[in-house]
Amino acid sequence: MKYDYLIAGAGLFGAVFAHEAKKKGKTCLVVEKREHIAGNIYTEEVHGIQVHRYGAHIFHTSDKKVWEYVNQFAEFNQYINSPIARYRDELYNLPFNMNTFSKMWGIVTPEEARKIIADQIADLQITEPQNLEEQALSLVGRDVYEKLIKGYTEKQWGRDCRDLPAFIIKRLPLRFTYDNNYFNDRYQGIPMGGYTRIVEKLLEGTEVRLNTDYLAHRGELDGLADKVIYTGMIDQFYDYCLGVLEYRSVRFETEELEQENYQGNAVVNYTEREVPYTRIIEHKHFEFGEQPTTIISREYSSEWKKGDEPYYPVNNEKNDSLYGEYKAKAENESRVIFGGRLGSYRYYDMDKVIASALELCEREL
Ligand code: FAD
Ligand code: UDP
Repeated sequence: MKYDYLIAGAGLFGAVFAHEAKKKGKTCLVVEKREHIAGNIYTEEVHGIQVHRYGAHIFHTSDKKVWEYVNQFAEFNQYINSPIARYRDELYNLPFNMNTFSKMWGIVTPEEARKIIADQIADLQITEPQNLEEQALSLVGRDVYEKLIKGYTEKQWGRDCRDLPAFIIKRLPLRFTYDNNYFNDRYQGIPMGGYTRIVEKLLEGTEVRLNTDYLAHRGELDGLADKVIYTGMIDQFYDYCLGVLEYRSVRFETEELEQENYQGNAVVNYTEREVPYTRIIEHKHFEFGEQPTTIISREYSSEWKKGDEPYYPVNNEKNDSLYGEYKAKAENESRVIFGGRLGSYRYYDMDKVIASALELCEREL
């Protein structure tokens, strides 16, 4: 065998594994079907602005070990994510906090906010929320649900809020303080110079073949290495033999504008159903950019079909059970290890992907 490991996918998971393997004296070949490395955290510089080609990425974590790990490869700026939600001509702060409630109801104190929420849901008698709608109503009341959650969520997921699991909305902080930080994590920022640079550094000294689909060349590639680390879609690996796992996909409409500042914030969510996109990202604001032009991306959410980029796994009962069947097959593989967000059919933030790659390294290397 020519290599110890063949790594399918040059995203964050594959790159962390390749870096650690190299440090331990192992040899790896990375194959990547796209024309570039870095997977979905890929950023490219356009007129001095780092453009997040596959959607805005903000690094945030409470895991000190992961934070120290990633800081070896980049210096992070002081960016704190504070999106604005736009409902028609009304603007609100996110995540849901006293600024949001004060604007919505003209109130001042946490006590007033809690009372309004309680009054709005008193007749609903929700004890254990069974779906996203019940969860949202019980957390923030009817007004916030109707204006800031219902339309956005139904655009994002293409499903009624009553057919979505409650946990999706629990990702967001809810606070009765005047604090617009979208995350509760201890560490947060954007890598200066972009994410692609991090992955370049992780892959330094490792052979990478771009435009190479592992599944299309499996026979030949399998002969090159003792083991395979596979970070693509698990159902595709098995040729969808048990069924197809559902995803949401996103289309990005990106344009450069001849103006310095388009929307005054990196992220503006459009929460009404009638606007076809979910949000607009203005990339320069992630880095406090002062370039003369600006670049924005509108995000349109759609149902994934074969050939599209898979972005968000749809973790409902049906899909999770199908994933369980694929996982059982995967566990019987002696030469192949599945990892990353597609290999595990989970929405993993970058810090979780790094943590799980490092765990694998500890077990495997
Ligand atoms: P990927 O980045 O998907 O890498 C997998 C790679 O494998 C890809 O390059 C793919 O082309 C390649 N591949 C697949 N199949 C094959 C094959 N058969 N042969 C060869 N190559 C193959 N996380 C955060 O922490 N903060 C955020 O703000 C954030 N925002 C996000 C926004 C969006 C819209 C999305 C979709 C995700 C976001 N994430 C965010 C999550 C983040 O993108 C992931 O945690 C991370 O990219 C996962 O890395 P990965 O290596 O597991 O997967
Ligand atoms: N959400 C919402 N309104 C918003 C922002 C988020 O209703 O303005 C809900 C929506 O259901 C979304 C979930 O909260 O899927 C999680 O939001 P997050 O910002 O974490 O989504 P992501 O950035 O991963 O797309």
